[in-house]
Amino acid sequence: MTADPTKDIADFSALVIRDADGKPRAGFERLTLADLPDNDVLVEVSHSSLNYKDGLAVSGKGRIARRLPMVAGIDLAGRVVRSKVPEWQPGDAVIVNGWGLSETEWGGYSRYQSVKAGHLTRLPEGFSPAEAMAIGTAGYTAALCVLALEDWGTIAPGQGEVLVTGAAGGVGSVAVALLAARGYRVVASTGRESQHDFLRGLGASDFVARSALSEPGKMLQAERWAGAVDTVGSHTLANVLAQTVYGGAVAACGLAGGADLPASVMPHILRSVALIGIDSVMAPAAKRDRAWAFLNAHLDRAQLAALTTVSPMADLPALAASIVKGETRGRHVIEIA
Ligand code: NDP
Repeated sequence: MTADPTKDIADFSALVIRDADGKPRAGFERLTLADLPDNDVLVEVSHSSLNYKDGLAVSGKGRIARRLPMVAGIDLAGRVVRSKVPEWQPGDAVIVNGWGLSETEWGGYSRYQSVKAGHLTRLPEGFSPAEAMAIGTAGYTAALCVLALEDWGTIAPGQGEVLVTGAAGGVGSVAVALLAARGYRVVASTGRESQHDFLRGLGASDFVARSALSEPGKMLQAERWAGAVDTVGSHTLANVLAQTVYGGAVAACGLAGGADLPASVMPHILRSVALIGIDSVMAPAAKRDRAWAFLNAHLDRAQLAALTTVSPMADLPALAASIVKGETRGRHVIEIA
């Protein structure tokens, strides 16, 4: 008989969101394996990451968890400890991005997590667990955006400028690095001049102030962008659409500036501009695999390191408050211990 691989696991730390007088409140707790959901695969989590959505969940600024209690963290990387299904074996290196983690499924801010087999991805080729979390949901979403623009078929390196909004953030910084590596001339829109050198280092050639895009503008404006990755939404996305060249495309994935879209149909019906929506959470496995292969092929590891900050779990509450205020930059790996 094989020894029980969980017999020495005592209690462990997790960041749990509970109801506090009708409001979600996050706090560190000690859990045991018996507290975890009854899913197919038990994973020992070594790393997670901090995304904007995690910031909303942990700070209580947004209602991300759809049931409580909930372990936060939309990403995780680790090793399989125990599995009820043959596809996953103890020792397998795995990641999860999205799939409802921190919303309907317990997430990555826990030393151990019990995960549905269909939500696991093998640790993508070419990346350590920490690098996979440095990319995390935000970085893999950036790859989905760049792939969507290229798939549109009218955008190619050397044929005009590509704009990235919210450029110093997690999605934005990886998008800048990927697009520059592909040979595009990348223009970064940021609200922070202090981040220009950082963004230039990732490959940005030029800058547009956040404020130049965030006010209501005309339905059609001077054509500038061959394509764009928008993480901001609201007036910013409306202005980006109005400034996109005939036949161009905008991949929209975020709402850092607002969830509304006060735009007109004019760029679409007069300039054939495409607005491509990007969702990472429920993206099917084949799309995920393609995005990770793209990242493996095109994301420079030194640049990935340059845009990444590594922090212990204890820093999560402070980091969550900072990311929702737009004060952090690049990507954040969280060491889970
Ligand atoms: P970050 O907080 O790391 O980045 C967001 C950036 O947006 C900030 O760094 C800042 O960039 C800019 N920003 C912040 N506040 C405002 C504001 N009020 N108006 C305009 N710009 C602002 O977040 P992430 O990169 O993790 O996520 C970015 C967005 O993408 C979020 O809305 C997130 O929910 C969404 N997202 C969506 C996914 C999907 O599947 N569709 C997956 C992942 C993320 P700067 O200082 O350079 O201006």
